[in-house]
Amino acid sequence: MKLIHINTENCPTCNSIPFSDRRLMDEDINPLTETREFLCGLVLKYDIISKKVNIIKKCHLSDNYLEIQKKRLDAIKRLVNFCESLDVDETFKKDILVLLAGKLKTTRMDVRRKL
Ligand SMILES: [Zn+2]
Repeated sequence: MKLIHINTENCPTCNSIPFSDRRLMDEDINPLTETREFLCGLVLKYDIISKKVNIIKKCHLSDNYLEIQKKRLDAIKRLVNFCESLDVDETFKKDILVLLAGKLKTTRMDVRRKL
């Protein structure tokens, strides 16, 4: 698939190649969004509202990737402890903890992929 707005062919950090291109079109066949994923984890997305290509996920080989992920893991663990201390009903608390558990799992997977 040929993307119109994303023309980055290789990751600027590690020179990795793309493995997935996606385009969401409107009824007039104009691209609303475009997404390109690279083998190294870098994800670029074009947004029609801002008319910019943004980095959605960083390259796993970037210098500060592990540092960012470790801070995220620490923040999630602190949020779990905070949620468990809240004076709210157990159903509400469980809903929040399920969301945090899902985020914790994906963050750990990202860290393992790098190591
Ligand atoms: Zn990369």
